[in-house]
Amino acid sequence: MAKKKVIIAGAGLSGLTFATALAQRGWDVQIFERSSDLREVGAGLYTWENGLKVLESIDVFDEASQNIEFITNLDMIDNTYGLMHSTKFTNESRFCVIPRRDVYKALVNACKRAGVKIETNAETVSVDPSGVIQLRDGRKYKADLIIGADGVHSNVRNSLNIGRKEVIGNGAWRALIPRIDEDKKGIAEEHWNDYRRIGIAPSTDKYRYVYLTGMTSDKEALSEPFNKEAWLSSFPHLESVLERIDDCRLDKNFYYIYLNSWKRGRVALLGDAAHGMEPNLGQGAGVSITSALELAIQLERYDIEDALDSWEKIMKPAADTTQMFSRIYGAAASNWPKELLGIRPEIVSKSMGSDNIDLMMSTAARYVTGLNASVFI
Ligand SMILES: Cc1cc2nc3c(=O)[nH]c(=O)nc-3n(C[C@H](O)[C@H](O)[C@H](O)COP(=O)(O)OP(=O)(O)OC[C@H]3O[C@@H](n4cnc5c(N)ncnc54)[C@H](O)[C@@H]3O)c2cc1C
Repeated sequence: MAKKKVIIAGAGLSGLTFATALAQRGWDVQIFERSSDLREVGAGLYTWENGLKVLESIDVFDEASQNIEFITNLDMIDNTYGLMHSTKFTNESRFCVIPRRDVYKALVNACKRAGVKIETNAETVSVDPSGVIQLRDGRKYKADLIIGADGVHSNVRNSLNIGRKEVIGNGAWRALIPRIDEDKKGIAEEHWNDYRRIGIAPSTDKYRYVYLTGMTSDKEALSEPFNKEAWLSSFPHLESVLERIDDCRLDKNFYYIYLNSWKRGRVALLGDAAHGMEPNLGQGAGVSITSALELAIQLERYDIEDALDSWEKIMKPAADTTQMFSRIYGAAASNWPKELLGIRPEIVSKSMGSDNIDLMMSTAARYVTGLNASVFI
């Protein structure tokens, strides 16, 4: 019997994960990627238990996570250097920061091993729900299933004329910086001051990951070139970290993507194309690759229509909840009333200290697939 064929628009973390997982299950997999080369931009990737389980399940973890330092505590620090909240990690709920280039390279290698075909310089312009994809150069292909894993600005989604994209007036700088002996081991921190935040986390034995986030309207903080002095004025105690930032990348805005359903006929949207979100919880990619593996699992169990239904039922509530809590976190960090900033640390501390809120904030991280069944841990 001929293999079933899937065509994927986009070789990002979602597209590559799905391609590997489905090719490992015997499908004929083709990816069309718009860029001229295969590489991931950005610095580090917060990776929680859900994402780690996915990488393990598709045999990518060992290559992606060489020399990774696991994190035991993620501390939120206020402007007076007080601890607002500390999230603790264990061997059952792991957390680390993998350099993006490492996880990306390992995924590309896994795709190659599984026989996935990847073509670069191949931009998707539109799809048809009957299972047809059209590229910029005019070529058209039909497949049993088409996947739009082409990010927040998805042409696949736009051509179906579905969903809503919301631009958020917050952005971030990201960098990997060299480690020095004085750096704390195993501890990640997020420092808050007014509407600016700096996150610092161990990544590998050589690097730490740093992100600096604020409001897009805060021109000093979020305009190119990187203005170290502006950030130093808010976080003088982080001078040693700021001094080590050399090569950094700016995202001026974030986006939320909302869809009632992730599928139309023989086309499905995956990852940021389906549920893009502000990176406040550091779980966008985690949810995306969990969803990618879950879809491959359902396609192995059921015919395509039932598999898409089942996948969406399993994954959409987790993605919706993660978007919602990302918004709440973002509102506290960037949209808090100015006159109430003085009481914010206490309110954040009390809220985050509540078991219920802690559980809901970590919905995605706890939603693990790739085992016998998808379960909350
Ligand atoms: C500042 C920031 C920090 C973040 N930090 C974290 C974190 O720490 N942890 C975490 O889990 N998540 C994080 N995220 C979210 C995470 O980066 C995304 O959820 C994840 O990259 C989504 O992957 P994707 O493959 O769905 O989309 P993308 O990464 O956007 O990949 C889409 C791919 O499709 C290609 N493409 C686009 N259009 C077309 C087209 N028309 N035809 C063909 N190819 C096309 C693109 O070139 C790209 O290769 C962060 C996001 C931001 C902005």
